[in-house]
Amino acid sequence: MEFYNPKPKEYKKGDCKYIVVSGSVMSGVGKGTFTSSLATLLKFNGLDVSAIKFDGYLNVDAGTLNPYRHGEVFVLEDGTETDLDLGTYERSLHRNLYQHNYLTSGKIFKKIIDKERAGEYQGRDVQYIPHVTGEIKKYIRELAIKDNPDVLIIEVGGTIGDIENSYFMEAMRELKQEEGEENVSFVNVTYIAKPNSLGEQKSKQAQFGLKRLMGMGIKPDIVICRCQEEVKKSIREKLSLVINLNIENIISLKNYTNIYSVPFYLEKEDLHSRVLEKLKLKKKKNDEFREKWKKMVNKLSNPKEEIKMAITGKYTGLHDSYISILNALEHCQALLKTKINIEWIDTTDLDEKDIKEKLEDVDGILVPGGFGYRGTNGKMSCIRHARKNNIPFLGLCYGFQLAVIEFARETSGLKKASSTEIEKTSQPVIDLLPKQKDIKEKGGTMRLGSHKTKIKPSTKAHKIYNKKEVSERFRHRYEVNPEYVQKFESDGLVFSGKSKEDERVMQILEIPNHKFFFATQFHPEFTSRPLRPNPVFIEFVKSCKS
Ligand code: GLN
Repeated sequence: MEFYNPKPKEYKKGDCKYIVVSGSVMSGVGKGTFTSSLATLLKFNGLDVSAIKFDGYLNVDAGTLNPYRHGEVFVLEDGTETDLDLGTYERSLHRNLYQHNYLTSGKIFKKIIDKERAGEYQGRDVQYIPHVTGEIKKYIRELAIKDNPDVLIIEVGGTIGDIENSYFMEAMRELKQEEGEENVSFVNVTYIAKPNSLGEQKSKQAQFGLKRLMGMGIKPDIVICRCQEEVKKSIREKLSLVINLNIENIISLKNYTNIYSVPFYLEKEDLHSRVLEKLKLKKKKNDEFREKWKKMVNKLSNPKEEIKMAITGKYTGLHDSYISILNALEHCQALLKTKINIEWIDTTDLDEKDIKEKLEDVDGILVPGGFGYRGTNGKMSCIRHARKNNIPFLGLCYGFQLAVIEFARETSGLKKASSTEIEKTSQPVIDLLPKQKDIKEKGGTMRLGSHKTKIKPSTKAHKIYNKKEVSERFRHRYEVNPEYVQKFESDGLVFSGKSKEDERVMQILEIPNHKFFFATQFHPEFTSRPLRPNPVFIEFVKSCKS
């Protein structure tokens, strides 16, 4: 066949509708937030929605990306390491996503090159069109069959005009041609600038961005204008003229502090009706979800109490590095009607005096995950401060490992205790997992994804989960060295959660007779949802309030 365009056998056109969200002018203006808010809004209308993100990077997944540059690496249940937008989708859709819901250029090219080496193209020269675009469309259709949603939202990372998303956009143009007008809709999120020197809104860059999109053969059905304030009608009129689109389909979206309220704003703009009409879809009944969401948003904006929480970390310059933790706390803010004020503690050069000063009036201390040496001593000093002063403490992943080292040094008298990730030591209380010892490749090789934890009865962990076993998501290479477990336990540290299959990996620790001293080798923040906050976070915030 001349045109390579494989379709899965079971695929039926029209069963799944597609909304393709792209961005113009610049990135980082909230395309992900819009996409997930649109997903929530469609869910308000009773539709079953799934999502996928296209990322233009040549990285096969996001696992090797530096969170300081790129934001948090989110981990799916099946262990796929993704861009933080997948976390935003899981939270707005209240559903788990899997490796098929994330596609990087690296993943698609790897697939194609592997196929080429296996001789699967039967002598053809392998080209961007039709092979790369064909492979992308096939991926999308396979996902449509697998997730079987009413609507699949496809977010194309980057900005129109980037080389690395051009073949994704071309594939989406072809998809519309093949699927038909009423099955594919394009939304473009653009940016309206308001330079300080002028004091007025300017639309020129947006015009260029949208014209460029049209030059690719794609006319958007809806344009979302992002701006710090409401976009003026005159600006929307100008865009309407430039791209032949009715002004009602050009929607202003200003900044919102509470992102969970954005679906209601879009609802007020009647976005859902336009999408439903365009895709010939009917509203189904699902008022319950909308009502619950509304209650959550109201509670979030009407707190009855305030607390102050310290979060340590070396990525303190970029809050996106901790986005799931911040969201998990926000979910508790709503549930417990408590505003959580965050005090960021950069632990790189922290001495004892600073610690006393900085942590003097905090109600709780959270030590998140991390890698490498930098800042570890400062973090351990914060943990010690929490332990000695009966201040609620939650350690996550690296925070769990550092709590073990701190305990080993101070309580078990193992002065040289450390992690082999930090230094060479004669007392390696944290060491590589056995399976990690022979691994050379860095990408996708940590202990990843959901694993079961067996919970010890009559412990705080048991009180929190009220279950004998739980499943949470992991991302680590190191663990508590089993040789030291007995000593720590006899010195008063309780390992209240251990790996279910062999009880070898210590997964939860706690110290009894402390207000709340609790740490997990897993990341409970990845499973927290707006309407179902993770119980570990709930109990932590509750204890900060008491
Ligand atoms: N660096 C630690 C490890 O690899 C912890 C990882 C993390 O915090 N995600 O085990």
